Amino acid sequence: MDNIIEKGERYFLHTYGRFPIVFERGKGVNLYDKCGKEYLDFFSGIGVNALGYGNEKYTKALHEQIDKLTHISNYFYTEPAVNAAEKLAEASGMDRVFFTNSGAEAVEGALKLARKYAYEKGKKDCTDIIAFKHSFHGRSIGAVSVTGTESYREPFGPLLPGVKFAEYNNIHSVYELVNDKTCAVILETIQGEGGINVADSRFFSDIRKLCDDNDIVMIADEVQCGMGRSGKMFAYQNYDVVPDVVTMAKGIGNGVPAGAFACKEKYAVLRPGDHGSTYGGNPFVTAAIDAVLDIFKEEKILDNVKEKGEYLYSKLEELMEKYDCIKEHRGMGLMQGLVYDGDVKAVIGRALDKGTVLISAGSNVIRFLPPLIITKRDIDKMISILEEAL
Ligand SMILES: *Cc1c(COP(=O)(O)O)cnc(C)c1O
Repeated sequence: MDNIIEKGERYFLHTYGRFPIVFERGKGVNLYDKCGKEYLDFFSGIGVNALGYGNEKYTKALHEQIDKLTHISNYFYTEPAVNAAEKLAEASGMDRVFFTNSGAEAVEGALKLARKYAYEKGKKDCTDIIAFKHSFHGRSIGAVSVTGTESYREPFGPLLPGVKFAEYNNIHSVYELVNDKTCAVILETIQGEGGINVADSRFFSDIRKLCDDNDIVMIADEVQCGMGRSGKMFAYQNYDVVPDVVTMAKGIGNGVPAGAFACKEKYAVLRPGDHGSTYGGNPFVTAAIDAVLDIFKEEKILDNVKEKGEYLYSKLEELMEKYDCIKEHRGMGLMQGLVYDGDVKAVIGRALDKGTVLISAGSNVIRFLPPLIITKRDIDKMISILEEAL
């Protein structure tokens, strides 16, 4: 592994503090490095590998599509793209879908849509966006402009003008920032990278009402918390609230680069020439999305998330009772976090040595994002390794 790591260090742009492991394959919820060491995965490639590794139906769908056609462009129709769009619209309660290659691109598209919506109303100077502190929306210039971590934005200015950051779960901080130039509010239903912050039910419905009252586009960024991770297909379905636009990615392709934004009919204002993507929604990627959505139903993935999410919740509560260094426990479904008073990176490093892959969030949160097929035994195993690491 050392030779590979050395070569990587020589040629990669150093944008990641990588762990010194070369992964080679996966099976179920386990990963194997190049030396054959087994790891239990509580990370899912940052919430992407929802179905774990080697799901037979998924792999078969990809193989079959590779043999037929991997790419053709959006100037034509393909069956996988049409089927995936129908299933995503049904699952999200939205009417129309645009496929992207990543979460950041989904966010870009959603922001363009919101601006165009105001533009079509004749409100050309209604261009401002309200986002939230501790949010994460991606790394492109538009997405980073609405990301609530200053160090991610600062070196790359000037960014999108007119972006203001409110306090998450504080509706009054939003009221203070809204004016007749506001075209959109963008928020994660559960903040992921920022440290696993779950939207209060009241806050979320107050945002909905504010947007309704002022004809502002409500964008729910479900790139991380969507696709079953919260126990519902999309996290906003845990609330009695339907956003106007939803962004998705990570889990929807289970490993192929897939994203999408979807909207209600009223907001379908992007027309030929307004937006596009060469690869977005190509038949290879949409065959994956289509298969993932079928597998979710057939293998009752949501039921597993609910059951194992509750089990993980109770186990992490016990851990918090037991250890003073754990200050708080947050999250929902199979997206949870422990606020740790100490060196999070060191704990994660020790867990990795002992064969469990975990991930951090924010500056002090140990994040749990296992594949959605996890079992109670896997959870017990992770907990005992985490205890040793603590
Ligand atoms: C990961 C993430 C993104 C960015 O997705 P990429 O595929 O990395 O561009 C956007 N929003 C949220 C909530 C995310 O977690």
